[in-house]
Amino acid sequence: MLKETIDPLLLQYEFARRYFNEFLSQRDHLKAYLKPSKTPTLIMDLEGIKRRYLEIRYHFPQFKVYYAVKANDHPEVIKVLAELGSGFEIASSGELSKILDLGIKPEKVISSNPIKPTDFIDYAYRNGVNRFVVDSFTEVDKIAKLAPRSRVYVRLVVPNEGSDWPLSKKFGVDVDNALDILLYAQDKGLVPYGITFHVGSQCNNFRNWLIGIKRASDFWQRAKAKGLRLQMLNIGGGLPVKYTYESLRIEDIAYYVRGLLQKFMPTLPHELQIEPGRGVVGDQGLLICRVIGKAKRGEENWLYIDTGVFNGLAEALGGIRYPFYVEREGELREWTIGGVSCDSMDVVARRVALPEPEVGDYLYILSAGAYTTVYAAEFNGFPKPEVVCL
Ligand SMILES: *Cc1c(COP(=O)(O)O)cnc(C)c1O
Repeated sequence: MLKETIDPLLLQYEFARRYFNEFLSQRDHLKAYLKPSKTPTLIMDLEGIKRRYLEIRYHFPQFKVYYAVKANDHPEVIKVLAELGSGFEIASSGELSKILDLGIKPEKVISSNPIKPTDFIDYAYRNGVNRFVVDSFTEVDKIAKLAPRSRVYVRLVVPNEGSDWPLSKKFGVDVDNALDILLYAQDKGLVPYGITFHVGSQCNNFRNWLIGIKRASDFWQRAKAKGLRLQMLNIGGGLPVKYTYESLRIEDIAYYVRGLLQKFMPTLPHELQIEPGRGVVGDQGLLICRVIGKAKRGEENWLYIDTGVFNGLAEALGGIRYPFYVEREGELREWTIGGVSCDSMDVVARRVALPEPEVGDYLYILSAGAYTTVYAAEFNGFPKPEVVCL
């Protein structure tokens, strides 16, 4: 007899198991590192990062890539991307000094953070960075004063629905305001350079790019009518990676974006930029931790691990669901995974399907390459993940 119902636990765990096996089958060089003596350890696959970068370049051939450093700022990650010719998107003096220390030229750097500390603007300008985003008159004033004659691009607001990590409301202006801001920047002696938008991080909704590019096109025509000669369109970040579900493919997003540009901006801007962070590193990191405890609380089965939302898994608080894998067989059960600290907010995931592990077992967390180590603190005295780049 064919069983009609599909077991959701099985479905979930099979996805994670297949993902784990596929990840390693393409990465023999990682296999010797799966049982580290110290946990948590984050393994970053540098070859995989290179492949991702090249894949993005291949599918977005007219675009310059500016890797968003905040997704993973490990020097080895930055170095391999620099060697392939990547540019870098940064927000702070800390990120910039990391870049400069690696010998990367300031011409490879842009800053798309709409509200920048003044000491950062000063430091960036003195080191040769001269492309900054704006989305307010106040920011134009700051840049005109601290970084005169710089090139400025304006951030348009676009909806972030369908992004697992939405950013809307905090930044971005509408087309009317954007126009006034760039005209004001021109009056202040800055160079109106272009426009940008951000569809939201882990964006699995084609429509966000549609709205972004439509607005950009509308803005572009109106800027032209006002005598502004813009050069650059930056379509932000947002490229998604696989977590507990298949994400949109880079190839399909690129195909769609190309179609939109043909339709809405038939004369392409002189310069096209894309700023992926997660899309470059997200699925190239494997976080290895250990089970440190188990408990049954009411009907809930709890597993406790030696890392948590304060030590690297902060995105679990905002809706990112990681795939988990243990090297055990046996009946699947549903687990709540508690983080290592004493804080009740420190819960990494709920309703996770896993065979029952023992204390001391390794627990593998896939797609942990982006927004993990960069968020990690040593709250409660527990360490940040050790990072091994291979
Ligand atoms: C964070 C950020 C990015 C990268 O976003 P991802 O979703 O990781 O690709 C790109 N641009 C800006 C301005 C950002 O703030």
